[in-house]
Parts: sequence; C-alpha cells; structure tokens
Amino acid sequence: MGIITKNLSDVRSLLPEGVRLVAVSKYHPEEALQEAYEAGQRIFGESHVQELMRKQEALPKDIQWHFIGHLQTNKVKYIAPFIDTIEAVDSIRLMREINKHAERCQRCIKILLELHIATEETKYGFSLDECRQMLAEGEWRQLEHVQIVGLMMMASNVDDETQIAREFDIAAQFFNEVKAGFFPDDAAFCERSWGMSHDFPIAVRHQSTLVRVGTRIFGERVY
Ligand SMILES: *Cc1c(COP(=O)(O)O)cnc(C)c1O
Repeated sequence: MGIITKNLSDVRSLLPEGVRLVAVSKYHPEEALQEAYEAGQRIFGESHVQELMRKQEALPKDIQWHFIGHLQTNKVKYIAPFIDTIEAVDSIRLMREINKHAERCQRCIKILLELHIATEETKYGFSLDECRQMLAEGEWRQLEHVQIVGLMMMASNVDDETQIAREFDIAAQFFNEVKAGFFPDDAAFCERSWGMSHDFPIAVRHQSTLVRVGTRIFGERVY
C-alpha cells in the first residue's frame, strides 16, 4: 500500500459519519492525486487557477474540484466550466462574477462564504458583521447561478487547542444564526468547512462537515 493510500485511510478513520474530506492537493503532482483517486478519494482542493486547470484536464472527470484559495475576479472564467465548489468567497463582487460566468456555462456553482475569525492579520474573509450585512442586503438572492451552501474558515495557526476550539465554536454558532436568519428552508445550506491537517480532529467536534486536509495525506508541500 502506498503512503498516500495509508495516510488517507488514517485520516478517514478519524472522521465521524457525515463529515467529508477535501484532499488538499495543491503543489503535489498529478501522480499523487491519482493514487488518492484510486483509493476512492473524489473531492480535491486546489488554490491556484493554472495548476487546477492543468490537473482537471489530466485527471478523471468525476473528481469534484473545490477551489479553496483566494480567487481573483478576473480568473473566475477559467474554472467556471467545471468547478464544483468555490470555498473562499468573501465579497458580493466575486459572487456577481461567479454568477455571470456560471450563467454563461449554464451551470449553478456552489460557494461557501469565508469568515475571518482567526486573530492573524489577513485581507481575506468576511468579519461576522460584514457577512451579516451582505446577507441582509439581499442581492445574493438574485444571483441564480450561485448557490450559497455554507461557511468556511481557518482557525488561528497556534498550538493552543483551547483557542482553536473557541474559534471553531464561534463559526459554528454563527452558522446557526445565519441558517436561522437567511436559509431556514434551504436544505442545501448545510456545510461548515473547517479543519486542516493540524486541527481537523478538533474541527469535527465543533460541527465541521468538510475538512480540508493536505499535508497529513500528501506530505510536505514543495513550493
Ligand atoms: C493549504 C490549505 C489547506 C490544507 O492545509 P494542510 O495544513 O496542508 O492540511 C486547507 N485550507 C486552505 C484554505 C489551504 O490553503
């Protein structure tokens, strides 16, 4: 058994029923994804458009690709024909652009709203207030080729498990608030994407439904 197959089965053994695994394959070669595919993996996460396009072309067509990085509006068109889910959407502007290109492809693209809860400085992600405000403004309801299926976030990159757990908890409570306030009758709004290699066992105890795991499956990335 190859190391990737072994790692995949170790990670899967730690996931409760109902939690799905996004195998984060960025910077890893196609052969690595192929091995994971042969071990039954179907959801892969990538964060660079060019790399994703190359892999999508080369690999089996039943893979569900998740774009997990920051997506520039001018690159949406390249992935719109095939992307399953865009995970890190943090502006109405990006949503409009996704809607436009999804319509051209006669598709509906699933997206997750990215929250910024971690203490680290980053330009990306909605604050909870910004997210509430964007949803309250309601323009997203007119974007018929975009389906908001949940929330995504990254916890702070720290060793303190109490802090990580607290951040996942904030996200989980916010999910409940948004679900009740804006998506009460929408069964598709159900995803909570949190948990990476170092913290996914904590994430699954805090309502995660999608974990995005790279290093723990494929090894260290070579940049
Ligand atoms: C790279 C990446 C991951 C995976 O990180 P690992 O520590 O390798 O598991 C998860 N989520 C996002 C948004 C990433 O960019």
